Amino acid sequence: MSIHLPIGIATENGAPHANDVLHLMRPGTLQLAALPPLSLYVHLPWCLRKCPYCDFNSHEWRAGGGALPEQRYVDALVADLDAALPLIWGRTVHTIFIGGGTPSLFSPEAVDRLIGDLRARLKLAPDCEITLEANPGTFERDRFRSYRAAGVTRLSVGVQSFNDQHLQALGRVHDAAQAIAAVEEAASAFDTFNLDLMYALPGQTPAQFEADLDQALALNPPHLSVYHLTIEPNTYFAKFPPVVPEDDAAYAMLDRITERTGAQGMTRYEVSAYARDGHRCAHNLNYWQFGDYLGIGAGAHSKLSFAHRLVRQVRYREPQRYMNQALAGAAVAQSEEVAIADLPFEFMLNAFRLKEGFTLAQFGERTGLSITSIQKGLEEAEQKGLLQRDLWHVWPTERGLDFLSDLQSIFLPDA
Ligand code: SF4
Repeated sequence: MSIHLPIGIATENGAPHANDVLHLMRPGTLQLAALPPLSLYVHLPWCLRKCPYCDFNSHEWRAGGGALPEQRYVDALVADLDAALPLIWGRTVHTIFIGGGTPSLFSPEAVDRLIGDLRARLKLAPDCEITLEANPGTFERDRFRSYRAAGVTRLSVGVQSFNDQHLQALGRVHDAAQAIAAVEEAASAFDTFNLDLMYALPGQTPAQFEADLDQALALNPPHLSVYHLTIEPNTYFAKFPPVVPEDDAAYAMLDRITERTGAQGMTRYEVSAYARDGHRCAHNLNYWQFGDYLGIGAGAHSKLSFAHRLVRQVRYREPQRYMNQALAGAAVAQSEEVAIADLPFEFMLNAFRLKEGFTLAQFGERTGLSITSIQKGLEEAEQKGLLQRDLWHVWPTERGLDFLSDLQSIFLPDA
């Protein structure tokens, strides 16, 4: 349903108009009174091994292939950012997320240079949150303090499980002992960090799940992200599906997570995220509040607002091609304007993930649309018991969070 620019699909020289700010600023039917907060996402695309469940843009880097081309990749990121700067001119960047792939494969020196180059080009908020995703392997753990010294303020540790058998089934390169040591090191090196955990794993019994949760909570993380293992198309698991717990068992696991994190003073503030006060992830919150983000790096996505339109962009996915394109000043493979009819659904896709939902004023500010455009959907969802509202706010009920896609799809343009 999005409007594609006439020649906006991948071309040899990048998407035309992708970074042509005058073209993006031209008059249109949408009127945004103000631009939302802006975040930066940086994608580092390599991993030691591809996990069988992973559908991210991550590429195996085999040791036999020599050292990671980190200098060239950082050069490409900087060229990519330089070309995109006119689109975000004068705007403050509130958060940075360095994700992947496995960003902790990059040396602290490369991360230091990257953050220095970003600082030299962007107006960062004084309290700018800078997150880096790290795997809990031993050689990565030894780097945590150097990442902190390079300017990273928050670490996200991809533990997934504390059970060696499950870690093996998930194709992870670390074991439980390394995971525990990595989380302890993250806690001592950083003021705040996230621990990623997965549930409904192949062959996982309720007792094994409970043991994982015991171990995760014993480490007292200020932020916990929990993900149901899902079988995504085009993954190894899609070809060779493992036997995973039934839906009812998985729901029971999720209920236990909410119950036990709550008892430990953490709040479920988003479908998959639990945090102690003051430790919510500002970067992800900006996504869920339909803020703007510029994504640089292989396959990175952006959503940027202009006075009269919202634009989505995607960079070239394959790392070598991305580097060539970015260094030639044409990293954007695809650029498209979001159709006005799609805006309510796009907004709800994010905002209903949050337990606190959104304010009606926020909906107007971020989409440029009036409340009448969602009135019918709000009434229908309320009647179905999926949301609650007052004069200013709308938020999902427990049922709405459990049946999130039913709630979101009420706002599809042709629903
Ligand atoms: S480490 Fe993360 S990004 Fe890399 S293959 Fe595994 S799940 Fe995907």
